[in-house]
Amino acid sequence: MSEITGKTRLLGVIGHPIGHSLSPLMHNAALTELRENYVYVAFPIKPEDLATAIAGLESIGVVGFSVTIPHKQTIMPFLSQITPTAKLVGAVNTVWWTEQGWQGTNTDVEGFVAPLTGLDRDWRKVKPVVLGNGGAARAVVVGLAQLGCPEIQIVGRNLEKLAAFKNSWSRADFNSELSVYPWQALAELIPSTTLLINTTPLGMTPHLEQSPVEEALMQGLSSSAIAYDLIYTPRPTRFLQQAADQGATIIDGLEMLVQQGAAALRLWLRKPVPVDTMRQALKDFIP
Ligand code: NAP
Repeated sequence: MSEITGKTRLLGVIGHPIGHSLSPLMHNAALTELRENYVYVAFPIKPEDLATAIAGLESIGVVGFSVTIPHKQTIMPFLSQITPTAKLVGAVNTVWWTEQGWQGTNTDVEGFVAPLTGLDRDWRKVKPVVLGNGGAARAVVVGLAQLGCPEIQIVGRNLEKLAAFKNSWSRADFNSELSVYPWQALAELIPSTTLLINTTPLGMTPHLEQSPVEEALMQGLSSSAIAYDLIYTPRPTRFLQQAADQGATIIDGLEMLVQQGAAALRLWLRKPVPVDTMRQALKDFIP
């Protein structure tokens, strides 16, 4: 963060609760490096105060802001334009001010895909297995469809929620086929996939001993597979340790967090941003 002056411009994140957010750390590290006269702060906004807050952010000239739980869907009616990606996900995590009003997108998709695009794989031959069907899983599915995966297999514990998740998209939304399975199907799905993604919170600090997949089932994972956990505390999770024991390539959630933030900062500043600095700021904080 450069010295705060009368010309300092505001960026931030809205959510509730928001005190745990790592975004101020990551964004202010980048703004300092760029010597940009901006500051990024956390705004605790209760659900019932969202309309008032959005009007307030506009009136005080906020340039843009990140959006987190519980506002990722409820923000949408306040936006004059929403990108096709955010519409597909059904949630907005990044907003910026324009002459036409607030515009929104979802950079979680770009964040999720970023660590995969560096790998030498033919995604048109990969049929990923996604564990969980909550908010983050929606960005994951859209990202996998963008990569070109022909079929995306989603595993969940609640069959009604699973069906609703699948039916929230139509065949016209993307070329990938979506198939949904109960948890018991993992015994068959794990040995036949080369991309296994955890989008559940199982294994997140402080529940370090938990994994969404039983030890015995994980032994069926191919050594040529990629295991990707969206969780970034701890690094690695039990799930990723199990996968590494099978010789699989592992990816934790830190890079997604960094890359979704970098994509947002690029939108606000309209220039390249120091991704390494953002990553290091998080690594210094997350052991
Ligand atoms: P969410 O909307 O609450 O979804 C969680 C999903 O996990 C739901 O489908 C839920 O099933 C399932 N689940 C929870 N406990 C389970 C259990 N014991 N067994 C089986 N399934 C279970 O949460 P989210 O926002 O998607 O976040 C999920 C995780 O992703 C969190 O750990 C979060 O920190 C991480 N995340 C990381 C990033 C990043 O940048 N790296 C970004 C977003 C999220 P039900 O629907 O049946 O409850």
